[in-house]
Amino acid sequence: MKALVKSYAKPGLWIEDVPEPEIGINDVKIRVLAAGICGTDLHIYLWDEWSQKTIPVPLVIGHEFVGEIVEVGFNVTDFRPGDRVSGEGHVVCGRCRNCLAGRRHLCAHTQGVGVNRAGAFAEYIVLPMTNIWRHAPEIPLEVAAIFDPFGNAVHTALAFPVLGEDVLVTGAGPIGIMAAAVARHAGARNVVITDLNPYRRELAIKAAKVTRAIDPRETTLQQVQDDLDMQEGFDVGLEMSGNSRAFSDMLASLSHGAKVAMLGIPSPSEMSIDWNKVIFNQLTIRGIYGREMYETWYKMTAMLQSGLDIGKVITHRFAWQDFDEGFQAMRSGNSGKVILDWTV
Ligand code: NAD
Ligand code: ZN
Repeated sequence: MKALVKSYAKPGLWIEDVPEPEIGINDVKIRVLAAGICGTDLHIYLWDEWSQKTIPVPLVIGHEFVGEIVEVGFNVTDFRPGDRVSGEGHVVCGRCRNCLAGRRHLCAHTQGVGVNRAGAFAEYIVLPMTNIWRHAPEIPLEVAAIFDPFGNAVHTALAFPVLGEDVLVTGAGPIGIMAAAVARHAGARNVVITDLNPYRRELAIKAAKVTRAIDPRETTLQQVQDDLDMQEGFDVGLEMSGNSRAFSDMLASLSHGAKVAMLGIPSPSEMSIDWNKVIFNQLTIRGIYGREMYETWYKMTAMLQSGLDIGKVITHRFAWQDFDEGFQAMRSGNSGKVILDWTV
C-alpha cells in the first residue's frame, strides 16, 4: 500500500510502498478516507529535536483520521466492515491502576499512533478494537477526520464548568479556536481569544464567533475586561499557545478562584510561573493531555448533534500525494486545520 513515511532521519516525508498492516485477533483494519495534519506531524516533518529523540525511523506517521472498517479480528464483535470510524491516537496498556479503574487517559504507558507505532497517513491502518470510535451517521466526514484535535479542545474547554463564565483562550490555533467554539456552545458568557497572527484572529471570529479576538501587543486584557464590563477578571483560562508570555498575561487577568486548563506545550526553559498569583488568588491549574476515553468522544458527538459547528476551522484540503503543500500551509501559520484526502 501507499503511505507517507518518515523514511530517513532528516527533514521531509516520503511516499513509499509498504506492506499492508496485519490484524491480530483483537484488532480492526481500516481503510483511511481522510486525515488531518497535526502540529506533531509538522514537528516530525521538520525533524526537530523532539522528533529526533522520539520517532523510530522508518515510520508511517499521522494520527488524525477517519476511515471505513474493512476487516475485524476474530475476537471483535462490536465493529463490522463498513463502519465509519476514527481511532483514538493513544494506545494504552490496559493493565495499570489507572487503566483498570477506567481512567485510561491517565495511563503512564501510552503509545502514540504515528509517533511510537505505525500511523494513519496510509491506505490502511490497524488498531486495537479498544481504540476505535464509530461515528454517528450525521457527522460530516471532514469533521470526523479531526476528532482527535477536536477532542483535545473539548477535553480542555470542559475541564471546568463554563456556563455563565467569562473565558479567556490564549492561542487561536485550530485547537484554541475549537475550544472557544465549545466554550460558547457550553454557555460561556464571554469568550475572548488572543493571538499574534491576524489570519487566526479572523478565523476565530468566523469559525467560533468569539466575543473578541485580540492582539495582546495592541490591546491589553485589562482593556478588554473594561470594555466588556467584566468585574473581577476571567473565570476560566484555556492555555492553547504554549507561549510563556501568553500564560503570564493570562495569570494576571484571572479572577480570584479562577481555573486554568493547560493544553499548550511550552518550552520548559522559557516558562515561569508567578506562584504568588497562584497562591494568593487561589487559582487552580490543571494540565490536559489527549482525550478522555471515551467521555470526550461522547461529548464531541453530542455537541455536534446539538448544533455545534466546527467545520469552518478546516481551511485547506489537499490530495494526499500533495502532502508537501499541506505541510507548507501548516508551516505558514495562515491556516486552520489542513486535511489530506485519501480517496484519490
Ligand atoms: P498552533 O501552534 O497551531 O497554535 C498556537 C497558536 O498560539 C498560534 O496561532 C500562535 O500564533 C499563537 N501564539 C503564539 N504566541 C502567542 C501569544 N503570546 N499570545 C497569544 N497567542 C500566541 O497549535 P494547535 O495545533 O492549535 O495546538 C495548540 C497547543 O496545544 C500547541 O502548543 C500544541 O503543541 C498543544 N497540544 C497539546 C496536546 C496535549 O495533549 N496536551 C495535544 C495537541 C496539541
Ligand atoms: Zn495503562
